[in-house]
Amino acid sequence: MDLDQNNDIRSRIRTIPDFPKPGIQFRDITTLLLDAEGLKLTIDRMAAQVQGPVDLVAGIEARGFLFASALAMRLETGVLLVRKDGKLPGATIAEDYALEYGTDRIAIHADACAPGARVLLVDDLIATGGTARAAVRLLHKAGAVVVQAAFVVDLPELGGAAALRDDGVAVSALVV
Ligand code: AMP
Repeated sequence: MDLDQNNDIRSRIRTIPDFPKPGIQFRDITTLLLDAEGLKLTIDRMAAQVQGPVDLVAGIEARGFLFASALAMRLETGVLLVRKDGKLPGATIAEDYALEYGTDRIAIHADACAPGARVLLVDDLIATGGTARAAVRLLHKAGAVVVQAAFVVDLPELGGAAALRDDGVAVSALVV
């Protein structure tokens, strides 16, 4: 992607060094969310990158919910919540994924989508891809077709987007 593209969005994302731990450059989208024009540009352009029909938008807890919900309004779909395990009240299916130290687990309601539903997966940022790839496995378990994964930010040096593409999922991001 051309680095000048979406500079108006890039410039509204703040970088906080050493959060949540030393060495991490945290890409803070709260400044983008605070900006009415920035938020609108973000949703307009994420929607414009969506290829083909979508039945549901799946958002990853927590920042992914914000973009997923706004996109769903635009695409006239519902929203499916991909949550940290233990948060959803109904019967769930869950998937583990590796962290730097240990594992984490995400879950969806077992009855959240009809088999064959075309799902757009959304999060604010993809880094190693561990979270998004686990979400894709979970959606596949539920019988969904993951048509695309859309992010505001991709950190390509961490390889997540490439790994998702290797898994057969189309990936879009506004700021690389
Ligand atoms: P990963 O599973 O490594 O792709 O990490 C993606 C998740 O962690 C997303 O939900 C992001 O919100 C968060 N995340 C990872 N790295 C960063 C970063 N450098 N800045 C902001 N959020 C991050």
